[in-house]
Amino acid sequence: MTENIKIVENATCTFCGCVCDDMILHVDVDEKRIIKAKNACILGRAWFAEHTIDEAPVALIDGQEVTLEAAIEESAQTLVQAKFPITYGLSDTTCEAQRQAVAITDYIKGTIDTTTSVCHGPSGLAFQGIGESTSTLGEVKNRADLVIYWGGNPAESHPRHFGRYAVTPKGMFVPNGKRDRTIVLVDVRKTKSSPVADILIRPKPGKDFEILWALRALVKGRKIAADIEQITGVPLQTLQDLTERMKNCRFGVLFFGMGLTMTRGRHFNSGAVLALATDLNEFTHFVAKPVRGHGNVTGADNVVSWQTGYPFGVNFSRGYPRFNPGEFTTVDTLSNGEPDAALIISSDPASNFPKKAIEYLRQIPMIVLDPKCTETSQAAHVAFRTSTYGINTTGTVYRMDDVPITLRAAFESPFPDDETILTGIKKRVMELVRARHQATLSNANAIAV
Ligand code: SF4
Repeated sequence: MTENIKIVENATCTFCGCVCDDMILHVDVDEKRIIKAKNACILGRAWFAEHTIDEAPVALIDGQEVTLEAAIEESAQTLVQAKFPITYGLSDTTCEAQRQAVAITDYIKGTIDTTTSVCHGPSGLAFQGIGESTSTLGEVKNRADLVIYWGGNPAESHPRHFGRYAVTPKGMFVPNGKRDRTIVLVDVRKTKSSPVADILIRPKPGKDFEILWALRALVKGRKIAADIEQITGVPLQTLQDLTERMKNCRFGVLFFGMGLTMTRGRHFNSGAVLALATDLNEFTHFVAKPVRGHGNVTGADNVVSWQTGYPFGVNFSRGYPRFNPGEFTTVDTLSNGEPDAALIISSDPASNFPKKAIEYLRQIPMIVLDPKCTETSQAAHVAFRTSTYGINTTGTVYRMDDVPITLRAAFESPFPDDETILTGIKKRVMELVRARHQATLSNANAIAV
């Protein structure tokens, strides 16, 4: 460690969707690493500590070191020549880079998808179908007196969610913090989050939809048979009690996680949560929010939605965007053996997709942008080593409540950022696509003459 220490205040941790922007980073300027991240949780501290600068080449083609320009040229050629190119990842990069990725996919008439399709994709479908009663986490902190977590374990996945936003912080209308709130946890198992709950509800696995629908009925004053307990594992009395609490709170919030969206019922479960929140607004102020995982997965949803009208799983092959999860989502296109090139941005599908999808992915040329060496980057045709968003580069990310936050860089990286590389690929793709159109027009004119 040197004496040359720089302090970066109000920096942002982009490890999870909480996107905590109160970090105080101590940076060893000479060694280019963060030696202390004040206010970070255990996950955030690991995130800052592991992002050091190594000696890796900026770009590789088939494992051979090349210049950045050569790698951009090869990437553009590969994408333009492909008949069914896909773009995937995007949840761990800036909105500025995401925007370039959408433009590239549009020019090459490809298919763009984000990690949303393997986490809150069902919620994305439900938002489109039902709508969303929403709020910022700041409003939750200042107003919520009933907080329900359903199908998640924030104590381990989002360690500061309780302390910074929803359980213990003192707010304008909840001045005594947790003492002014009722915390309800709905989960099939006990987790490290359980001790925080005032009321712990443990349904049978896969029965979330039935419980949510029963709650909707109770909110509307309908009768529910007592055998609901045999079906769901939750006594009618518990559901009646929760219904009264939801109707009579001043500001209620229901946070839902992948335990709800990725189990039996999927988008029906998410839709039921959103519909329940809407029903409750007849009686009080009630919102429902997904708890998002990756640092800028919410930004990916927003940027892809601004540009195409849909949040993920979007295909441009007909020259206009089409949305069809199950057909245009990456696990599905790969499992069906359709893509012939892939642009992967800050994601490692080769280590976490289903086996069939991984086997196919490894057979096609991949262009991979990643700040680390991963299973996916090692199998790439073109691999770019990038700087890390929020540590080496600035830009915009969206917190899980759709609040945009500007990042502060802690130290410089010798590697380019995603936006720079993607802008270079986009520029070259545009030139190649235009040249191809010109050639097609010239041929058509020659035949006509
Ligand atoms: S809660 Fe998430 S964003 Fe906040 S410090 Fe921990 S890992 Fe980082």
